[in-house]
Amino acid sequence: MQDLNILSDQSLEMPASPYQARHFINGRYIDSADKRQSDRRSPSHGIVVSQAALGSEHETEEAIESARTAFDDGRWSQLSGKERSIILNKVADLIEKNAERLAIIETLESGKPISQARAECGGAADLWRYAASLARTVHGDSHNTLGKDILGVVLKEPIGVVSIITPWNFPFWILSQKLPFALAAGCCCVVKPSEMTPSTTAMIGDFLAEAGLPAGVCNIVLGYGDPVGSLLSSHRDIDMVSFTGSTAVGKLITKSAGDSLKKVALELGGKNPQVIFPDANIEQAADAVTFGVYFNVGQCCNSSSRIIVHEDIAKDFVEYVLCLSRKVAFGNPLNDETQVGAIVTPEHLQKIDGYIKDAVKQGAKVSLGGDPLSVPNVGEQFYQPTVVENITPDMAIAREEVFGPVLTILTFRTLEEAIQLVNDTEYGLSAGVWSANVDTCLEFSRRAHAGTVWTNTWMDGFPELAFGGMKQSGQGREIGSYGFEEFLEVKSLVMRIGNTRQKWVKETST
Ligand code: NAD
Repeated sequence: MQDLNILSDQSLEMPASPYQARHFINGRYIDSADKRQSDRRSPSHGIVVSQAALGSEHETEEAIESARTAFDDGRWSQLSGKERSIILNKVADLIEKNAERLAIIETLESGKPISQARAECGGAADLWRYAASLARTVHGDSHNTLGKDILGVVLKEPIGVVSIITPWNFPFWILSQKLPFALAAGCCCVVKPSEMTPSTTAMIGDFLAEAGLPAGVCNIVLGYGDPVGSLLSSHRDIDMVSFTGSTAVGKLITKSAGDSLKKVALELGGKNPQVIFPDANIEQAADAVTFGVYFNVGQCCNSSSRIIVHEDIAKDFVEYVLCLSRKVAFGNPLNDETQVGAIVTPEHLQKIDGYIKDAVKQGAKVSLGGDPLSVPNVGEQFYQPTVVENITPDMAIAREEVFGPVLTILTFRTLEEAIQLVNDTEYGLSAGVWSANVDTCLEFSRRAHAGTVWTNTWMDGFPELAFGGMKQSGQGREIGSYGFEEFLEVKSLVMRIGNTRQKWVKETST
């Protein structure tokens, strides 16, 4: 192994016993009727972190009925924006108060470092506060120029019952990108977290109840994609599905939602490039490239797994990235200093390794890493920081979402060539450009097919700015006012003023 920075000690105690995650339906925590449960073994430490109820169609139907009844009787949608915002702000306070408890479970279920789980769980409170502020801004518009006896009004109304299906890589953050916004709009919800990371989502039931959210407004069902997720995508009482996960499952959801033509919002995979021009600040670019590929062990929709670097600086730039990669702290996620943790499952670890071994067979060169990694005193479900060169754009490693700590390097000579490489993918989530020339940055930004473009930075995000993907990276937008609007339906109201309506049927003299 090539002189990596590996941390095996830990700063935190392990929880005394597994967390018991249960469904939250109509304001109460319940087990599955058939008592089925699943154990989640920590990817880093191998212990059972949580035991979660495994939902069937029975619990899913119950949760949908609970949300439908709550929506239809107006117990939430008919509250004022101010009343909704007060409750959402209280949830934000409770999230902050419980952030450490959430972060420890999140770390042990997902394998991510505790510092990043703290930022994710504690930081999510800001999403709740921003959504709370939006609850008071819902308004349509008025049309006062349609004729002297007509007033037109466009109303915004909550879309109805929303099912929210989330992945394992940022369970609490992604929940918070969706749920408070749907609630701020006046919707009622049924949430299904990933079967691998159910606990922090289940824990929020307590906060919602303590903050005063009426029972039935938000329901949580734990379990697998089939049957829970598929019923949440097809059921006639669901008005909208808000999904984050893989492109393959996103397509299945679109199909099952199609029968009842429900609205579908999708946040899917990415194969995100960063392009480095010779006039860029190379130190900052290399640091951002390292962060972009190793953050969350590369198991990140925004992972900058494709580096496209100008030929003139490619050799020096890659050397610099290799040097930084050796310094990144890999290892025990319960160590405060760790920057990169474990891989979510053994199967996923094999999949990452397969991409590299296939690329090597096709002529690629592994300049760093390229093998699983064992962390002393912790476990074996880790992967080395990996940099792969001699890539061609047609290789699977250059086109598909590897979802691991794996960087591929391509080179370019002209802006035209760089843009062609950037857009030569089925995905369109995010892209980045590094250059001191504002004209280069702007031309790149306008021509890159991506929902977010970063210039001279990577992965900066704000609740105010919409997030989402073009092409097969998704449809619709999340967060920001655009994300909020996704949960609102538009209704036009036409009012005739005074008794001036001309009769359609002509009077006859018979
Ligand atoms: P996944 O698609 O396997 O699972 C996501 C969720 O869908 C889980 O809750 C799962 O149980 C559920 N599911 C599975 N089959 C289903 C079905 N047939 N019907 C309904 N629900 C079903 O994704 P994952 O492995 O959990 O997450 C990784 C993927 O998520 C990556 O592709 C990543 O890029 C993507 N992601 C995207 C974003 C974004 O904002 N664009 C953010 C995070 C993750």
